[in-house]
Amino acid sequence: MKKIISNAILNLVLASLSWAQGPTQFHPGFNLFTKEQDVQLGQENAAQVRAHMKVIRNPVLTDYVNKVGRRLVAAREAQESGFPFTFEVVADPTINAFALPGGPMFINTGLLRAVDNEAQLAGVMGHEMSHVILRHGTNQATKSKFVELPALLGSQVAGGSLVGQLTKLGIGLGANSVLLKFSRSAESQADLMGSHLMAESGYNPMEMARFFEKLNQQGGQRTIQFLSDHPNPENREKAIEQEVHRLPEQPYSYQTGDFQRMKAVIARVREPKPPAPAKAQ
Ligand SMILES: [Zn+2]
Repeated sequence: MKKIISNAILNLVLASLSWAQGPTQFHPGFNLFTKEQDVQLGQENAAQVRAHMKVIRNPVLTDYVNKVGRRLVAAREAQESGFPFTFEVVADPTINAFALPGGPMFINTGLLRAVDNEAQLAGVMGHEMSHVILRHGTNQATKSKFVELPALLGSQVAGGSLVGQLTKLGIGLGANSVLLKFSRSAESQADLMGSHLMAESGYNPMEMARFFEKLNQQGGQRTIQFLSDHPNPENREKAIEQEVHRLPEQPYSYQTGDFQRMKAVIARVREPKPPAPAKAQ
């Protein structure tokens, strides 16, 4: 009994200590791109995405992701970044979403199908936005082409295509792109900053952890592209939980009220089939 009580006291002390420390602060790493170049690169890449994927113009789905997105954009770290976030739905049954440098985000219909509640969607969106805020894509591009980039970026003329130049260096949107496939440490940062955006928006950050855990348990299914682009850092759920203890206590009661309406529409959307897996020879 005595041990139980002392454990309870210890837990209380630890919880109040971590709260007193406040949320973990993150800053973008070394980057040869300017923030304006992040925005330009993202917008040029977004035009390519719109040309190659089927963007869904259904007003219910578009309004829905924009309502959740605007809520997250109002959070402090998103505001301070100054990046112009946009949110679009693409017809793709795989469970995924991705955000390009500078803010354009694309959310797969497969993700909208897979989430159990609005906070889980907000969790993935907040996580993606955090990659943008922390400039992980251009930070990784910087690290991969440290020697070649200064001359290329320095010779960039106003109005010229950045994507065209970067393609010459192999920096594009193909498989395993440095712009979209992140390291485990970038993943940890995006989880924790994502939890800040969620909490400030009134969403329970633990729903992000629950959704990742759910994907993990279904691991191995090829429809779960998210885990391949966003490798699971160790103790993902535990780390998010610890960060939540550092945040000021607040009610996680926000909902747009449109979740069921979105689910009714998404149930009727038909996507192109995912490509068949390569057959073993
Ligand atoms: Zn990620």
